Amino acid sequence: MNKHFETIAVRDQIERTENKEHSVPLYLTSGFVFDDAEEMRASFAEEKQRDLYSRYSNPNTNEFISKICKLEGAEAGFAFATGMAAVYSTFAALLSSGDHIVSARSVFGATHGLFTKYFPKWDIETSYFGVNEVENVESLIQPNTKFIYCETPTNPGVDVLDLEYLSAIAKKHNLLLIVDNCFATPYLQNPIKFGADLVIHSATKLIDGQGRVLGGITVGNAELIREIYLFSRLTGPSMSPFNAWVLSKSLETLAVRADRQCDNALKLAEYLEKHPKVKWVKYPFLKSHPKYDVAKKQMRLGGTIVAFEVDGGVAGGKTFFDSIEMCSLSANLGDSRTIVTHPASTTHAKLAKEDKLAVGITAGMVRCSLGLEHIEDIIADIEQALEKI
Ligand SMILES: *Cc1c(COP(=O)(O)O)cnc(C)c1O
Repeated sequence: MNKHFETIAVRDQIERTENKEHSVPLYLTSGFVFDDAEEMRASFAEEKQRDLYSRYSNPNTNEFISKICKLEGAEAGFAFATGMAAVYSTFAALLSSGDHIVSARSVFGATHGLFTKYFPKWDIETSYFGVNEVENVESLIQPNTKFIYCETPTNPGVDVLDLEYLSAIAKKHNLLLIVDNCFATPYLQNPIKFGADLVIHSATKLIDGQGRVLGGITVGNAELIREIYLFSRLTGPSMSPFNAWVLSKSLETLAVRADRQCDNALKLAEYLEKHPKVKWVKYPFLKSHPKYDVAKKQMRLGGTIVAFEVDGGVAGGKTFFDSIEMCSLSANLGDSRTIVTHPASTTHAKLAKEDKLAVGITAGMVRCSLGLEHIEDIIADIEQALEKI
């Protein structure tokens, strides 16, 4: 029987030791011992599957990887210290000098930094398509293109990209489709079901969901993961067993947290849509979202992030943020606490004005990451801040 998401997230555990712990213990060990020379030889030759050294694998990271693979419908995976270690190692393991990437323009700031600052040093160039111009993707493909890369919903504009459409283009041109699924989590969206080859997560966000630990993971096609594993074995970006242990526990509550946070997000978005001091609101499950149909097709719920524009541009935004009493002013997202961010002056401040507008960041734009507080208290805080504008 195929079990449901919630059941896998709670019940998929590594084997118990003879102590029969109900909750999986923490394996804080850098290495593992062998019975004899032959076992050691066979283990290093990979004739025998077992843990050798925690840079390669560890029972806690194995458990976290196995859970995410089941929840994403992936064959294999590797877990990293951070989301950016996952992004960087995936690209570095699979690309060669002279290769080319076609990426959505709207990607996480640090990923954009890799594309613009470091990859060109190794003669790896990137071409960008606007989130609402997926029809242009094909025209960007060159003979040396290797990947199509995207995030959906995007940060901070919560635009939605059609994964089925992008995977059809990737297949037609023999390219890999790689999706950073951080905003959706495996609970809300499974890109592999729509044809993605690899899925990346920053586990730091909703997967932990309580703002405690950093983590990242890449899952997907087993042959590709093997390449990523071999690269990572040498370069050492692996997730710590402690963080893996925390994150495996976090997964047990992901569905209930995401249900509540998505419900809060939809309620806030509906409230803001009617507010006279709000110019526009974007949320994937609002009918007014330009890609509402695509969001409904590929997402279980609309996600935990709402974007909106307050009246009065930069000054209006400043008054709004200075008036917030309960919600946290922070650049993080996916926490149990509601967070409001001003992308134009913080996470995306380094972008030129045209680039900000190209990814949908306007002066008075607010990104709100919904937490687990009662929705009436969240709305009350945002309402009193809007009144001050
Ligand atoms: C935060 C984030 C990352 C990077 O994750 P870290 O764990 O902070 O390294 C990558 N992609 C997206 C979409 C993110 O939101």
